[in-house]
Amino acid sequence: MLITTTKTAIVTGASRGIGRAIALRLGQEGYAVLVNYHTHPEAAQAVVAEIVAGGGQAHAVPANVAQAADVERLFATARQTYGGIDVLVNNAGISAVRPLADTDDSLLDQLINTNVRGTLHGLRQAARHLRRGGRIVNFSSTAVAGATPGLGAYVATKAAVEAITRVFAKELKGRAITVNAVAPGLIDSEMFAEGKTDAQIQQVAQAAPLGRLGRAEEVADVVAFLVSEAAAWVNGQIIRVNGGVL
Ligand code: NDP
Repeated sequence: MLITTTKTAIVTGASRGIGRAIALRLGQEGYAVLVNYHTHPEAAQAVVAEIVAGGGQAHAVPANVAQAADVERLFATARQTYGGIDVLVNNAGISAVRPLADTDDSLLDQLINTNVRGTLHGLRQAARHLRRGGRIVNFSSTAVAGATPGLGAYVATKAAVEAITRVFAKELKGRAITVNAVAPGLIDSEMFAEGKTDAQIQQVAQAAPLGRLGRAEEVADVVAFLVSEAAAWVNGQIIRVNGGVL
């Protein structure tokens, strides 16, 4: 059944963390939301249930963004279910805290396939299917600018995301589509906590300019702005959302 709606958003990696907060926020804003997940169907269904309970529309769709065919299917589902696509949030990503000397080929492949190929797969589909006036938000990390030891392979993938963001903003010329990236930092999340003790987390939070960690919802606020009409003149930019740490 084709459900007509004003606008449709695909959020990759929306079962948990920042993607979950973005899906909930866009659901509140009136978007029909494709809640993409990879390994946590129950978590994705819970996000859908929350959006629907709030009066919105949402669908959970499995896809491994590292696989081009999966991403193609995700876009096809969005078009079949809601008639078109207006917003792509390329949020799905993985990190690893590991010195490069200890980073084996398998981990390199996982990081590159998910963060770089995953983003490129989404962008390729968006280039083919996003409606005029659409919005794309990619995900980088403040760690690119922070030059954090142990995050070499991860920041290499996110630097690639920043580079393609600027290229893609130009490649979609003539369609009124904006392409930006958000580069979060110090977000209270499983990803941020990885490899740190509670005491280390507290220390980092207190040392931050605002004396705390950020929340996933605060990243979602910026994404909501970037996909709005109010951000029509923001294009090809990398927006750091990190409480001023860099
Ligand atoms: P989480 O680890 O909390 O969640 C990751 C999400 O991505 C999950 O929904 C997961 O789905 C999904 N995912 C992972 N791999 C794939 C895949 N191959 N295909 C589809 N979905 C996948 O991450 P965060 O919310 O913390 O991070 C979100 C984004 O923000 C990432 O791009 C990250 O690099 C970036 N970022 C995060 C920061 C932070 O402090 N948290 C800081 C800087 C950047 P499932 O659970 O179903 O497998």
